[in-house]
Amino acid sequence: VAARLNSAGFIRSQGFIGGKWTDAYDGKTIEVTNPATGEVITNVSCMGGRETYDAIASAQDAFVSWSKQTAAERSKCLRRWYDLIMAHKDELGQLMTLEQGKPLKEAIGEVSYGASFIEFYAEEAKRVYGDVIPATLPDRRLFVLKQPVGVVGAITPWNFPLAMITRKVAPALACGCTVVIKPSELTPLTALAAAELAIQAGIPPGAVNVVMGNASDIGEALLASPQVRKITFTGSTAVGKKLMAGAASTVKKVSLELGGNAPCIIFDDADLDVALKGAMATKFRNSGQTCVCANRILVQEGIYDKFANAFSNAVSSMKVGDGFGEGVVQGPLINDAAVHKVESLVQDAISKGAKVLIGGKKHSLGMTFFEPTVITDVKSEMQISREEVFGPVAPLLKFKTEEEAIRMANDTNAGLAAYIFTTSIKRSWRVSEALEYGLVGVNEGLISTEVAPFGGVKQSGLGREGSKYGMDEYLELCKEKRNKA
Ligand code: ADP
Repeated sequence: VAARLNSAGFIRSQGFIGGKWTDAYDGKTIEVTNPATGEVITNVSCMGGRETYDAIASAQDAFVSWSKQTAAERSKCLRRWYDLIMAHKDELGQLMTLEQGKPLKEAIGEVSYGASFIEFYAEEAKRVYGDVIPATLPDRRLFVLKQPVGVVGAITPWNFPLAMITRKVAPALACGCTVVIKPSELTPLTALAAAELAIQAGIPPGAVNVVMGNASDIGEALLASPQVRKITFTGSTAVGKKLMAGAASTVKKVSLELGGNAPCIIFDDADLDVALKGAMATKFRNSGQTCVCANRILVQEGIYDKFANAFSNAVSSMKVGDGFGEGVVQGPLINDAAVHKVESLVQDAISKGAKVLIGGKKHSLGMTFFEPTVITDVKSEMQISREEVFGPVAPLLKFKTEEEAIRMANDTNAGLAAYIFTTSIKRSWRVSEALEYGLVGVNEGLISTEVAPFGGVKQSGLGREGSKYGMDEYLELCKEKRNKA
């Protein structure tokens, strides 16, 4: 697959600065490997602060003209970018499976999902309305203009190599901003391929730049530059806090999508099939490596045993393997560190009295494959209930009353996604509103869409991505006070 993608021009190994494929100044490179096999796919440029400053300068140059284009012109470029990504969704999906490991069908699904943000913001570009405010004096008029913030630094993770980029870059470009993207060093190839398609779509050189390599050096350059007016980040809470603190020195706008600890609450009155399907979907998407994956499955005592059995049966039927394999629905974890984390969370739970229903250890396939796992008798004090698992392990916790479920669900610093399964309409409203979460899925395990705002409360983040609200993150409200005469 790699050889075929390479000869078709889909594997790029240099950074992308000012519309040119660029090596690191010192010629250094880093390996990009396939997590399913350990094979090196290619070596990409390992960049740092200097290259980042070059990218910022290019983005600043491009901002002058891009922000002055009409919304309709920017919209057309974005629409062409969307069309090109969709026309190459198979190749981009293959590239993603190669570097990230997710099953090919899921990868192609992410390409469509990622592209949907570009299509949506191509349309939204034309709807950046301002406001006229009744004046305080008879001869004055007050206008509110929405203007692009300027150069945006976008730092993204490996779990959604395309979608986490398009969610940021599409609204930024739609508003007239230009961007410097720092994809994860584990999955830069999808980002580079998307940048190539952006240029083919007519998005001007410098409007989209990609640098990767030394994450903290690149991060520092983005933070230190007064020209970068906005940092948008998806990743760990620890790095997000560092970026937020670092952005203070130049007072940048900041959007953060950080870790979650999603509760998935299954009430006695749930439709068992619906709950099963929803819990499977939210827990095992991307082998559990998403920030909205159910982290704790809270099951009411009356349905607990029945649910645990049915859930284990469903989990044991999932095929694990290389994402290119026929029928595979669970790929490898991203790297050894991810496996160690999952192992240690499972061990901690077992040592404190949890029981493994199925799975519980590394998969016989080796590499970074982990057995899809269900553990019961999990308690709120266990590490697995407090930390983001980011792996295919479903911890089941038991509760008695609705009040207890809400208390358990909210007992965390995170507040991204939550899920509830119930057939009672009254309960669904009551509980949704009591949950301290940015997103609540009711009888539904997959809740992300480009048309609705995505984001967390508490320490899960700041700002929203997707929907009309996602545009505001890249705009400033500028008041113009005008004398009527
Ligand atoms: P994850 O655990 O999902 O990999 P990280 O927060 O470590 O989450 O990574 C998300 C993104 O943040 C990646 O692109 C990574 O390279 C980048 N990153 C990590 N550390 C820093 C840093 N100090 N400054 C800027 N970016 C960073």
